[in-house]
Amino acid sequence: MLESILDSLHVISLPTKTNFRGIREREVALFSGPIGWAEFSPFLEYGAIESVPWLVSAIESAVTTPPTPIRAAIEINTTMPALEGRAEIAEVLSWFPGCKAVKVKVGGNFAADLERVRLVKEMVPGVRIRLDVNGAWTVDQASSYLLAIHQELGEIEYVEQPCATIEELRALRKRLPAEILIAGDELIRKSQDPLALELSDAVDILILKVAPLGGIKRASQIAAQYGLPIVVSSALESAVGISYGLKLAAAIPVLDYANGLGTGALLNADVATLVLENGKIEVGSVSPTDESLSTYAVDGQRMDWWRERIRQTWLAGAGNWVQREGWSL
Ligand SMILES: [Mg+2]
Repeated sequence: MLESILDSLHVISLPTKTNFRGIREREVALFSGPIGWAEFSPFLEYGAIESVPWLVSAIESAVTTPPTPIRAAIEINTTMPALEGRAEIAEVLSWFPGCKAVKVKVGGNFAADLERVRLVKEMVPGVRIRLDVNGAWTVDQASSYLLAIHQELGEIEYVEQPCATIEELRALRKRLPAEILIAGDELIRKSQDPLALELSDAVDILILKVAPLGGIKRASQIAAQYGLPIVVSSALESAVGISYGLKLAAAIPVLDYANGLGTGALLNADVATLVLENGKIEVGSVSPTDESLSTYAVDGQRMDWWRERIRQTWLAGAGNWVQREGWSL
């Protein structure tokens, strides 16, 4: 299996439209199997062990048939990076036609955060605001900032990972009014065992990302285990990775929130087209165009780096996991 992945491997570097978690180019590895194309794209700083579920998810998508979709199209949220300025914010909003929920990245300078949220609120009538703090706040900061935002700007749909740990979130939960919901993201996707967490009184909503959680089968187990409302999100993947996230979203029994699967809009080029229309993207498979695979191909040195990364990730646990599942080509 490993050799076959390496044989069909393409690595491309896609330019981004805007600075997103410090990135201007998104490198992703793509390969194909009997069921379709697969994406392996842990961020470059992730080590082999953290990359294991990403590779398992990619292999699952290449060699197994996904569950029957419950819905044909997925409601999408706007993803607003930590930008400043009315014109910049208006431009990003224009890339997400029809999206009524806007996830605003915050957690840096609080005055700038508040201004960003204020501008989004002003520019999108009837917007549902959700905040993503990526664990940056202490409990004290989170409670005072969230109460300030709530007081000034009204209802917030939820706040994603305001603090880093489950213990902090539990302490924060006690200090917030019931209508400010807390969503867990990093605490689940960066956990050693995402099926064995004690989330009660800490988290009201779960963010599930198919690649860091090891694929649709495992993400669905996690969803069933906790019984919390689910939001499916992504990690600035190409259309191949996003289409797999859409398939996870299509398989979740109850999906009441918009999902963070529109991040393709933040890329300046992609390998295939997923149309975001009226706030939704249709569920389906995509294949990268030959043109995109050659135009954005990385050089030989980067190709070698990715081949070695995949070998190391396989050895770090992906190979054993795939064997346990009994998957083959
Ligand atoms: Mg997040």
